[in-house]
Amino acid sequence: MAVLRSLPDEEKALGRMSTLVCVSVAAEGTKAAIAAMAAAVAGGADLVELRLDLIPGFDLAALIGRRPCPVIVTYRPEREGGRFVGDESERLAVLRRAMALGAEYVDIEHDASSSLERVPGCRRIVSYHDFEGVPRPLEQLHRRLAALDADVVKIAVTARRIEDNLEVFRLLQGTDRPTIALAMGEAGVVSRLLAGRYGAFLTFASVEAGAAVAPGQVPLTDLLGMYRFRGITARTALYGVMANPVGHSMSPAVHNAAFRAVGLDAVYLPLLVQEPVSFLEQFTPLGFRGYSVTIPHKQTVIAALDEVQPLAARLESVNTIAVDDDGRKRGYNTDVEGALVTIEAALPPGETLKGKCVLLVGAGGLGRALAHGLTERGARLVLTNRTVERGLALAWEVGAEFVAMEEMGRVTPDVLVQTTSVGMHPRVEDSIVPAGMLRLGLVVYDAVYNPLETRLLREARRAGCRTVSGLGHFVNQAAGQFELWTDRPAPTDVMREALLAGLGAKD
Ligand code: NAP
Repeated sequence: MAVLRSLPDEEKALGRMSTLVCVSVAAEGTKAAIAAMAAAVAGGADLVELRLDLIPGFDLAALIGRRPCPVIVTYRPEREGGRFVGDESERLAVLRRAMALGAEYVDIEHDASSSLERVPGCRRIVSYHDFEGVPRPLEQLHRRLAALDADVVKIAVTARRIEDNLEVFRLLQGTDRPTIALAMGEAGVVSRLLAGRYGAFLTFASVEAGAAVAPGQVPLTDLLGMYRFRGITARTALYGVMANPVGHSMSPAVHNAAFRAVGLDAVYLPLLVQEPVSFLEQFTPLGFRGYSVTIPHKQTVIAALDEVQPLAARLESVNTIAVDDDGRKRGYNTDVEGALVTIEAALPPGETLKGKCVLLVGAGGLGRALAHGLTERGARLVLTNRTVERGLALAWEVGAEFVAMEEMGRVTPDVLVQTTSVGMHPRVEDSIVPAGMLRLGLVVYDAVYNPLETRLLREARRAGCRTVSGLGHFVNQAAGQFELWTDRPAPTDVMREALLAGLGAKD
């Protein structure tokens, strides 16, 4: 018989304690579900949710008998977003049996609550799900659910925009009742990560990556490891990356590792932002002290800032925002310096970019920033871009020569700087630089960092070029952000390790 880890006492179990971490278990059968429960507890979960509708052919007595911690038993019908499609009385009979077998919690959908009588010792989570959006006002819904003999109220809504999380936070802050409130979807991930800060009864996590039972669930190892969920309090400084899309970003892994390494009470969040100006206005007062900004917001975000560093203003590209104690927002660009330092490190000892012939491939956001940066370093710039008008406009802006892409093989540069997304995962066999122009001693920089060795860099290495991947650039720009936010040296080794580990995990 498995050892049952019980919650400390009745009062704590009813929510007057720090927010619990619950892993939702879905599995291909009873044996796999028992293994998943054990893995969840070994990984640090306080309790597990058995999603019976996602465990085919489950053996309820075995599941409850072998639970290693308190369980929530959920048997979600299709009408509330689950997979159970049979007879309602059959479903309720299973929930009754779960209570009789000693389950600590049972999840009862709001419309079934009056059909399921209370059983002493088993707490009732009365739940409501909205897969379309946020029903308003949430407080009214909360009152209605609480009146259904609920020990814990659960409201799961769907975030269509990141601003929808604010409704969830307001609800949690305004109630003393044990409440689970979360926003599903990628835009709602912050409601799961900040559940403790706002006093939620619990937050759900998945047992591992790819095993989420609801949109936006974060894997347990990320929740407790990368985000240090249990350490997030009202005092924790908030940071994050404003992006759309954001799911692929390596910045949370890199910055959270840095905060942990220097012992800062800070957390860095993935922020799926659609409208940067209104986002900044509404979220900064929650306690945000800084943001990374990436595609597609680097330019549009400028309208929301109180001050912009001259370089960032000239480039019309802000990748970093620092928030002062008085809430003023200052914009910077750490991208250009981050890339230039990396490229310079690959030059032969004692040499600089001054006077060097640099072929810049790409006139997108990064290409434009580097065109300015390289020109300011005194490089002789030749520029190429797939869209000729864009390339020509940039060449004119910085006083560079322009060549059509199919003509780039005619240039004999000292340094080749590749800033397009060509060669990036998953199209790793693509390259737009003709192998014939790669020669001994040429410095070749590729901004792409996933994979670390692109086809271009592989061919360049074989041809005897001095190659540089986008890894160092990424670490440098992130280190620049860290230093602007914290006024202390960035732990760059830790950041590099976190990036490498993250890239490995994403493959
Ligand atoms: P962006 O503004 O969207 O620009 C994309 C550039 O790639 C444009 O020049 C575009 O040409 C070109 N391009 C896209 N697909 C192409 C294709 N099939 N053939 C030829 N050219 C193509 O993006 P960005 O912000 O400049 O980023 C570009 C790359 O740099 C991305 O891979 C990004 O991950 C990487 N990056 C790396 C770091 C780092 O820290 N290492 C930092 C920033 C960016 P058109 O003008 O013709 O569309």
